[in-house]
This record gives sequence, C-alpha cells and structure tokens, in this order.
Amino acid sequence: MSPGEDPGLMPPEEFLECLFQWFAHNRRDLPWRVEYSPYRVLVAEVMLAQTQVPRVIPYYCRFLERFPDVSTLASALREEVLLAWEGLGYYRRAHHLHEAAQRIVERFQGCIPADFETLRRLPGIGPYIASAILGIGYNLPVLAIDTNVRRVLSRVFGAGEDVNLREIGNLLISHMPSGKARHLNEALMDFGALVCLSQKPRCSLCPFRGFCTFVKDAGRESRIRQQRTLLEICVAVCCAGEEVLLTRSEGKLFPGLWGLPFREQDGEDPRAWIDALGERYGFLPLGFQECGVVAHAYTRYRVRARVLRVSGKRTGMLSEAAWVAFRELPRYPLPSLFRKALALVRPGEYRP
Ligand code: SF4
Repeated sequence: MSPGEDPGLMPPEEFLECLFQWFAHNRRDLPWRVEYSPYRVLVAEVMLAQTQVPRVIPYYCRFLERFPDVSTLASALREEVLLAWEGLGYYRRAHHLHEAAQRIVERFQGCIPADFETLRRLPGIGPYIASAILGIGYNLPVLAIDTNVRRVLSRVFGAGEDVNLREIGNLLISHMPSGKARHLNEALMDFGALVCLSQKPRCSLCPFRGFCTFVKDAGRESRIRQQRTLLEICVAVCCAGEEVLLTRSEGKLFPGLWGLPFREQDGEDPRAWIDALGERYGFLPLGFQECGVVAHAYTRYRVRARVLRVSGKRTGMLSEAAWVAFRELPRYPLPSLFRKALALVRPGEYRP
C-alpha cells in the first residue's frame, strides 16, 4: 500500500488478532470474571444494566454470597432480595431477577436456558442480557452488543452507516477461533470501556487507528460525502441448482469479505470473465442472463453494479470458494450491494 492510500475496512482476522493481543495485557479483573456461570452473568448484567461497574462490584459480591445459585435466589423471600439490592437503585430489576429465578426453577429445573428466544421470555431479560448469557455464560458463538461494543464496531468498521452492525458481529464470530466467544465479548467490552471512550477516545493508544473509519472520517466527512467516487462493476450470481457461488472479495471494495464475484466494468463482453471464473472456482458456466442494475453508496464509493445470473454446473470444490444454498444465504453476513443483487436474481425468494 502506498503512503496516503486508504487501507479500506479492517480484515476481521487482523482485527481479532489485535484485539486479543490488547486484551491479553489489559483485561479488567472483575468479580464476575473469577468464575463463570450463566447465573453469575445474569446477576452481573442485570446489575450493570443501569449502573457503573465500580458501584456494582460490592453489591455483586454480597449478592452472590447471599444467593450463590439460582435455586437459593428463587426460594428467598422478596424482602431478602430487596434488602440485598438496597442502595443499588432501579428496584424493578431486583423484582424481575427474583421472578426470573423462580421461573427458571419451576420450568427449567433450575437450569438457565441456553436459547435466545426462551431467555427473552423471562422477566427483565432483553436481547442484550440474553446474548450475554449465551456468549459469556455459556461461551456460545453469540455477540452481546452493548453501547461500548456498538461504539467500537461502529467506529472501526463504519457500522451503522455503510455496514450493518449485526453483519460485522456475525463476521467476527465466524472468524474467531472456536471456543473464544467469551473472550471476544469481554475484549470488546473492555476495549470500549478503556480505550474507545465515547468522549475523547484514546486513539493514539489504539491498534485499530490505521483502519478506523471514525478517525479517517473526522473533519472530512462532509467533503467525502460530496466526493464519493462512482465505481461501476459487474457482479456474477453463479448458480448451480439451488446453490450460489461465494468468493472472497479482492481489491478496494470489501477486501477480504465473502461475497459474490465481481469485477470493475470495462464495457467488454463478460463471457471471457465468466469462463475465467468457472476455471478458477470449479464451475462450468452454461449460459448467462442480464438481470438489471443495483446501486449502493459506501463511505468512499457510489457503486453501480450490473448483475448477471450465470447458470452452470459445479465441477470441483476449491477452498477459496463456497457454495451456499439460496435458502441459507440470509444467515451469511454479505455486503448490502450483494444482497440487493441476490434479491434481483431471485425476487420474492430472497429479501435483503
Ligand atoms: S482509533 Fe480511536 S475511535 Fe477508532 S477504534 Fe481506536 S480509539 Fe476508537
């Protein structure tokens, strides 16, 4: 990369490596991290929902000493629970926590459910706490997005504007080493709490500053909006039966992300390119059809994409390609432009 050149979005593997290195030296020692259980995460997250960490710590320790598990909490009198909560404020949380414990004992034999929808039906458990129980308590591949995590991802990846926050979360989850969900959740929370502060982020200490869209955009956002470069590309939706070909993007648009194969438009007949795609990705193209044009604006580019539906047969399996069933595609974190292209190819069946 030459000096001054925009490095684009940070590749997820690199982000994770930097984040985990940072976390290895900066992890906060907190009482709910001494020993892990879904119950401990539940209590900690309910307390932290409206209250700062330093204030929660003594309450959490006393509460766990008095109610060490969900059964003890469920069988306690409401007055005892409120007494342990006294001074922490927002007492509705204590009522909900007590009711949730009772329901867990009655309906789930005292075992906190490891399922998002079931958790959400318990009193006082919103999407964030449910995700934290799964991602931290159970160490399942789920990202809990609180305000700290939202801020870090929004700033580093520009999520919220060009990139969907959930897509970025899924991308990180899919790239993290297995069994590291707890690690990833805590590292993002700590990074947001210690470095990427909401006011005055400590960018000079930040390992992501070379990629961070917040830094890149600071002071020049309006200029960039006016100066977005128009990029015209051609996108191939290669179909073999009910499966579609995904490849890793190369070049300045979506570097390193999975998506549909594309190339910059040069006005030439796309046949030779389609044949080359077939050879490279183990696919025999039998014909193609023009489906129309889709457009999407990103921070630096306005992209217009001519969409081709290419029909053919698979001839081999290559590691740099993935064949995914159409019905599975909504679960993949694809850039919005490709979602629009897929919706054009399969109207009514695929919704971006
Ligand atoms: S460079 Fe600054 S704004 Fe960007 S992630 Fe790092 S601390 Fe946050």
